Amino acid sequence: MSRVYNFSAGPSMLPLEVLEKAAAEMTEYGSTGQSVMEMSHRSKEYQAIIDNAEALVRELMHVPDNYTVLFLQGGASSQFAAIPMNLGTKSGKADYIITGQWAKKAAQEAERYIKVNKVASSADKTFSYIPETNKSMFDPDADYCYICYNNTIYGTHYTEKKIPDTDAVLVADISSCVMAEEIDINKFGILYAGAQKNLGPAGVTLVIVRNDLIGDTLEGTPTMFKYSIHRDNGSMYNTPPTYGIYMLGLVLRWIKDKGGVKELQKINEKKAKILYDFLDSSEMFKGTVVPEDRSLMNIPFVTGDEELDAKFVAEAKAAGFINIKGHRTVGGMRASIYNAMPIEGVEALVEFMKKFEAENK
Ligand SMILES: *Cc1c(COP(=O)(O)O)cnc(C)c1O
Repeated sequence: MSRVYNFSAGPSMLPLEVLEKAAAEMTEYGSTGQSVMEMSHRSKEYQAIIDNAEALVRELMHVPDNYTVLFLQGGASSQFAAIPMNLGTKSGKADYIITGQWAKKAAQEAERYIKVNKVASSADKTFSYIPETNKSMFDPDADYCYICYNNTIYGTHYTEKKIPDTDAVLVADISSCVMAEEIDINKFGILYAGAQKNLGPAGVTLVIVRNDLIGDTLEGTPTMFKYSIHRDNGSMYNTPPTYGIYMLGLVLRWIKDKGGVKELQKINEKKAKILYDFLDSSEMFKGTVVPEDRSLMNIPFVTGDEELDAKFVAEAKAAGFINIKGHRTVGGMRASIYNAMPIEGVEALVEFMKKFEAENK
């Protein structure tokens, strides 16, 4: 077997131990005589799988009892609509901070249903920083205030001090930083994440929502977009993404075995530091994000020469470092180093970059 170091932004690397466990259980789960894929979602065996996944989410993220954990479909992108439909029912207004493509898309979608106030944006500098805000910039009447916690494409990340100071309910897209670092759930009304970055294969979306926010929806909201329906049916109003939830459970078990999110955060900080330290010392490679807003998970960098970037991407691929090309809207390179990327992968990449720099001076 030959496994590459996969720096993809998503779908991304999964822990080998998880893949091996899934392979061992592929044709028969426990002594059920069937694969999880073949199992009725109404069976007691499957109920145990989804209950275990929820229990692990609650344990690993310290989800308080007054929050509901949902496993939905439609990707993070469906939440762009679900959030205004479920929260935009009082004033019909929401504040958005535009820190990149995903926040922009979320705001655009929300505009179809409610009034969106774009409070701040970092578009002026290609989203290379997180804008400062202060309380006076926010609408006290807003139904919620929306941020993208970690900007997968541009490699920026919210730190404690830039989290909006608003009285409105905070909503955050944590698709690319979920379980990579500790997040205080109590600060937020909704946190959500597509699974394919840090939680498992594509197909499941984790939504954590405070109970008092579930109920009302905008008129015309499709049944499948109502949090209340999914809560009342334990995420099984219809057939859930059964295998994806099982895989998510295996990934969470792996996180728990590693010592939990806090331990992974330490490793992630170490991994990111290795790469950022090199970028800060290199004559050839430069990080594109201001130091104080740098992501632990997605690290974009450039040489400043497009041809050299392309040469680097091609040679990296040949050497077993795949998917290191930057997002099509940004160019350059991007190394996504999610939980499943081992520290050895980052060290090997930096060694490779050093060699490339020496050879291409
Ligand atoms: C990948 C990503 C999305 C889109 O996720 P889908 O599951 O493809 O809809 C949204 N937000 C962030 C921050 C992402 O990284």
